[in-house]
Amino acid sequence: MASAIQQNLNSIKSKLPEHVTLVAVSKTHPNEAIEEAYATGQRVFGENKVQEMTAKYEQLPKDIEWHLIGHLQTNKVKYMASFVAMIHAVDSLKLLKEINKRASQHDRTIDVLLQMHIAQESTKFGMDREELDALLASEEYQSMQNVRVRGLMGMATFTDNEAQVRSEFQFLAGIFKELKDNWKDNSFDTLSMGMSGDYELAIEEGSRMVRVGSSIFGQRNYG
Ligand SMILES: *Cc1c(COP(=O)(O)O)cnc(C)c1O
Repeated sequence: MASAIQQNLNSIKSKLPEHVTLVAVSKTHPNEAIEEAYATGQRVFGENKVQEMTAKYEQLPKDIEWHLIGHLQTNKVKYMASFVAMIHAVDSLKLLKEINKRASQHDRTIDVLLQMHIAQESTKFGMDREELDALLASEEYQSMQNVRVRGLMGMATFTDNEAQVRSEFQFLAGIFKELKDNWKDNSFDTLSMGMSGDYELAIEEGSRMVRVGSSIFGQRNYG
């Protein structure tokens, strides 16, 4: 019989269009919860703390794709550079340089998303348009061999005002489309927006990757 986690997961998956990837956000939840999700075929999991993700990586099946979705400090990159599949919240050239350096030490390329600040809350991280353009135009970025910028990520304001959330997603989707249309190749293909409370709205506005935690695993005690 399917567990609550498995039922939640199946019901969300049945609502997702084929072009949308589900990142199951397992932060604060034990390995057993991840194993239940894994048993349904889910392979992409998201964590927001490097230490917790690394511990889970060591204990769980090696075909899991680990996504680091939370704010990241430069000094933590080295702990996950050997295995992380995607880093969602890159918001500075300094951080990107460190990811490139650590990826090259492991002879691999790490996929990253650039985080844009789209919410009204100043507590949320991310770059504005000017910072984004400066990063992409920099010679340092253009000479990096071991990172691949796959797209953008953003978090909407935490509010019941649907019109506001929608307009923030539209804003991000507009920048995404503009960059995608002008990108040198087809690799810029990922727009990560939408969480438990707003993923359906995000998909309507063009999201291609949703990060869903509590609607799958239940409430968290922290995080
Ligand atoms: C925790 C987290 C999520 C998932 O949040 P839920 O509301 O539980 O779905 C998504 N994105 C980021 C960056 C997070 O830290």
